[in-house]
Amino acid sequence: QAKTAGGNCFRLYDSEMSQRALDKVELESEARDALLDNQFFYALQPQIDIQTNKLIGFEALIRWNHPERGFVSPGQFIPVLENTAFMLSLGYWCIDHAFELLQEFHRRGYKDLKIAVNLSGAQFLDPELVPLLESRLKTTGIPAHLIELELTERTLVSDIENATLIMQRLIDLGYIISIDDFGTGYSSLSYLKRMPAHIIKIDRVFIDGMMKSNADKQIVASTISMVRNLGMKVVAEGIEEPEQLDVLHSLQCDWGQGYYIARPISEYQLFAAMSEHYKDGKWHIEPLNSIN
Ligand code: C2E
Ligand code: MG
Ligand code: MG
Ligand code: MG
Repeated sequence: QAKTAGGNCFRLYDSEMSQRALDKVELESEARDALLDNQFFYALQPQIDIQTNKLIGFEALIRWNHPERGFVSPGQFIPVLENTAFMLSLGYWCIDHAFELLQEFHRRGYKDLKIAVNLSGAQFLDPELVPLLESRLKTTGIPAHLIELELTERTLVSDIENATLIMQRLIDLGYIISIDDFGTGYSSLSYLKRMPAHIIKIDRVFIDGMMKSNADKQIVASTISMVRNLGMKVVAEGIEEPEQLDVLHSLQCDWGQGYYIARPISEYQLFAAMSEHYKDGKWHIEPLNSIN
């Protein structure tokens, strides 16, 4: 009886496995077509200076407008497509698109807003990355300090020597480097000392926990003061309540983003109403149809 069940289990497991493999291959080819068909776009989430309330720029978050499945979030397709060749193509599309948006900002006279782009581990380690980022600066005329490249701790700890080298080459070109989801990975304080990053982004689990747990509040407070003392800037992500913003303000946190400040807004909505949203350097209107 156990043997039969075991046999069945194995067959079931086996067919699930090949089903999953098929899904991955299918999703990759579907995504390839989708990229050619312009189904990807950016949701842009405003980031503000917590001390002055001024808008400093946007984090670019990828979205897939799928003809049958509707809006597909990156949490649904990035984990499946990670380490496929397609992720690199999508990543380069993302970089090019960030440059296009910045060029559009410049045409409209918004010349100091920056865009933060998320880089996958494979893309960060891809030998094409640095030469491409170097050549885009020349062809677009966009100053490198308006592009922030977000890396995660996981990307960096896999090979810290090599990662530090690549980071240094990007910094030499003038790019801004930030460490995303800080506190959730495996990096240690000695990594932080060796990494030449400009910005640390405190993960939203700590911002969420901050109001409920004294431990989380102490972690946020000490991270902010340590990062500032090391000469870097600190961003709090996932600010959902006014009380969190107040606490972060009193803790001297530099920058912040989150649903309380503004939800991610589609690039089309942004350009349709940018002058309404953005007055006197401040972000005024909560977008009605946010794209989460
Ligand atoms: P992330 O870089 O940490 O991005 C922040 C995520 O938190 C975004 O989810 C954003 O919509 C969400 N968020 C922002 N404010 C709040 C808030 O107040 N509360 C809550 N609960 N969530 C908030 P999203 O857009 O689903 O992206 C998920 C992750 O997918 C990103 O996490 C990033 O790691 C990855 N991702 C997004 N776009 C790209 C991309 O273009 N390339 C790569 N490689 N990864 C991307
Ligand atoms: Mg990010
Ligand atoms: Mg993040
Ligand atoms: Mg996060």
